[in-house]
Amino acid sequence: MKLPSVVKTYCPHCKAHTEHELRLDRKGKEGTIKQGRRRYEAVKKGYGGSPRTPKKTVYKVGKRPVLILTCKVCNKKQQRVYNSRTKKRVEVE
Ligand SMILES: [Zn+2]
Repeated sequence: MKLPSVVKTYCPHCKAHTEHELRLDRKGKEGTIKQGRRRYEAVKKGYGGSPRTPKKTVYKVGKRPVLILTCKVCNKKQQRVYNSRTKKRVEVE
C-alpha cells in the first residue's frame, strides 16, 4: 500500500485543515550510555547469567504502522495509527 507524502488534514494546533508531511515512524537507535543499559550491563557483569529471561520471538501478522504527520504551517507533529490490517507493507511515496 502506497501513501502520499503530503496530505491535507486537520491540525489541532492551527484548528484548521492544513498540509501535512507524512512519514512512517521507526524505532530509534538504542543508546549505549543510557541508565537502563548501564544498569543492565553492571548486573550482567561477572559470575552468573542474564537476570532477565530471554524474549520469545513472536511473529506478528497484523502489525499496524504508525504515521507521523508534521504540519507545514506550525511544524507540530501528531501521531496516527494506520488502521488497516493489510498484509502488504505500507510505504510513503
Ligand atoms: Zn498546524
